Amino acid sequence: MPLYRAQVLDTPGDPFRGAALRADADAGLLVVDGAIVERGPYAAVRDGHRDEPVVDLRSGLLLPGFVDTHVHYPQMRAIGALGMPLLEWLDRCALPEEARLADAGYAREVAGEFVGSLVDSGTTTALVFGSHFAPAVDLLFEQATERGLRITSGLVVGDRMLRPELHTTVQRAYDEARELAGRWHGNGRTRYAVTPRFSLSCTDELLASCAAVQDDVAGCWFTSHINENPAEIAKVRELFGCGYLESYDRHGLVGPSSILAHNVHPTDAELKLLAAKGASVAHCPTSNAALGSGLFPLDRHLACGVRVALGCDVGAGTGFCLFKEGLQAYFMQRLRGPEGVPLASAHLLYLATGAGAGALGLRDQIGDLEEGKRFDAIWLDPRAGSPLEIGLRHADGPSDALAKVFALATPHDVQGVWVDGERLKG
Ligand SMILES: [Zn+2]
Repeated sequence: MPLYRAQVLDTPGDPFRGAALRADADAGLLVVDGAIVERGPYAAVRDGHRDEPVVDLRSGLLLPGFVDTHVHYPQMRAIGALGMPLLEWLDRCALPEEARLADAGYAREVAGEFVGSLVDSGTTTALVFGSHFAPAVDLLFEQATERGLRITSGLVVGDRMLRPELHTTVQRAYDEARELAGRWHGNGRTRYAVTPRFSLSCTDELLASCAAVQDDVAGCWFTSHINENPAEIAKVRELFGCGYLESYDRHGLVGPSSILAHNVHPTDAELKLLAAKGASVAHCPTSNAALGSGLFPLDRHLACGVRVALGCDVGAGTGFCLFKEGLQAYFMQRLRGPEGVPLASAHLLYLATGAGAGALGLRDQIGDLEEGKRFDAIWLDPRAGSPLEIGLRHADGPSDALAKVFALATPHDVQGVWVDGERLKG
């Protein structure tokens, strides 16, 4: 029963609804079977548990583990291509790389690199866009299980407008998804997500087969892309004769268990419908900046009551670290001028932790370090003399310290990562 002693920062409440950052300068967290069973001032918790081993983390900061709600496993090696908008980038960079995962040996290597990169960056839970190839999706689930990550993922399907080797059929998409969900949904820390690539690459018949999988696999998740780029949105309208959200919703795919990535260019009617359905949006700011997709209208999402979390969107996104995504989200709101939402460090932490946990239906288990939650945590302990360590030493209180973390922290500063109390890094 380890007793963790640390300076702890988390957001048990929603800062977008006025909740404050919670900061405990010297907290004690008693962890039993992966759960936080007691939390309080260290001295008080210690008094009740004199014989438990103490893990002293006072040289750094303890935060909840990151929750990434949008990241593509097959694009691990495609990070960093510059200078293209979405559809050109897909054709020239992402899809050729995704096709290579037909080779199971290649997919195994990429899955290992991908899972390792998430853990290294402090991500403890992720909603992962899988591969178009079922064996490669098995390999991802296997590697995630081996490392101990909490992931929700699934077979990516499309039957038009991709490379021919990535196309599936309505029946094959259904059969393979059911088999994968049978093996992985609710198995340990893994769950299944129905994952059409985007409506552009899916016929109505294929989207209907996705809905059939969703109906058949109780408690599974739904994820895809939406409203990322004006050229893409125009093409969806031409193909379906309706708006982007409706292309999914008319098949019954949109609900509280849905996470749609991007939504940079939504209509007001779409925002209202997303809110009414209880669906969530994964905001992916480095990807939106790298592809020139646009500045995310966070104010309009908040005004309509749409739930928003963060995603790194590797490989269009420029890395796995949600500190960087949080900082980029802040930058993008600054650039929106008077329409931008002023984000404080507590908002950034919430977007990277509690908001994602809520979007994934896991808020009762993870997203902060409250008593009763699972011990999914990261420990930042920057090198002495680094700009972050100097900044933390001179910070003017916890909010300022957390702002410096989002400005300066990298995966190198993440010296400890735990899921269910099991140490995955450090
Ligand atoms: Zn994406």
